[in-house]
Amino acid sequence: MGFLAGKRALIVGVATDRSIAWGIAQAMHREGAELAFTYLNDKLKERVLPLADSLGSKLTMPMDVTRDEEMDAGFALLKREWGQIDSVIHAVAFAPREAISGSFVQNTSREAFRMAHDISSFSFTALAQRAQPLMEGRAGSMLTLTYLGAERSIPNYNVMGLAKASLEANVRFLAADLGPKNVRVNGISAGPIKTLSAAGIAGFRKMLGQVADVAPLRRNVTLEDVGNAAAFLCSDLAGGITGEILYVDAGFSTVGMSFAHEAGEG
Ligand code: NAD
Repeated sequence: MGFLAGKRALIVGVATDRSIAWGIAQAMHREGAELAFTYLNDKLKERVLPLADSLGSKLTMPMDVTRDEEMDAGFALLKREWGQIDSVIHAVAFAPREAISGSFVQNTSREAFRMAHDISSFSFTALAQRAQPLMEGRAGSMLTLTYLGAERSIPNYNVMGLAKASLEANVRFLAADLGPKNVRVNGISAGPIKTLSAAGIAGFRKMLGQVADVAPLRRNVTLEDVGNAAAFLCSDLAGGITGEILYVDAGFSTVGMSFAHEAGEG
């Protein structure tokens, strides 16, 4: 029996079979969780439905996190079908393409700032507002995905770094507010993985190369690495962990300096 047997989770953020949310869904399914999936729009619905079906999930729903009425309808459906829920995975981010390329100063418009923060950070609060009532009396958990750009400047990541900093603060404030209700809130700071969203960041391939050269494990992380850590954080095995950002980045964030090239590596 898997360590998530008997748990029910909503997965927000599958777009393709390369999505981090899909890696998480696979690991949670393997550990026995029952899953529901959201999709952004009709175009992505066609991709998400067969993926959900392949994990035995029939519970799918549209959810554009900028639309309150769609979020309300999604949680009303969950309440009707499941009554209660144990976990919500938030693997959603967006910034206009021109804002995640080149000069931060020149390319950060008010509208890009607003969108990045609304879709990538506020949406986690909006999910928690709707999920908590369905977690009453249970050991609930919320999990989001963040990146090192929240804490350090990273070329081209720009306004998304500010949105991730907000998201990481969001983790701590939600954890403080929901802890007394026995809901844990955590984030995973993942190393770069080639996904649809990542492809929108200028120079993304160079980021992958840098991590493989410098990270202690001398490799990039996989969907499985992140999925396994996410499954753990949503399980009772992590019952004492909340308000935490867990780095799943092959150790990259821990390195101050690396002489790998001089040692003839990489
Ligand atoms: P992805 O493109 O597969 O997933 C992003 C998801 O966000 C998509 O499913 C998309 O439909 C959804 N989305 C965008 N706007 C939305 C909206 N208005 N409403 C609802 N959903 C919306 O890319 P991914 O890399 O799997 O991204 C998942 C999360 O992981 C993001 O928060 C991302 O910042 C984070 N992350 C990614 C990496 C990486 O290198 N890929 C590293 C660290 C953190």
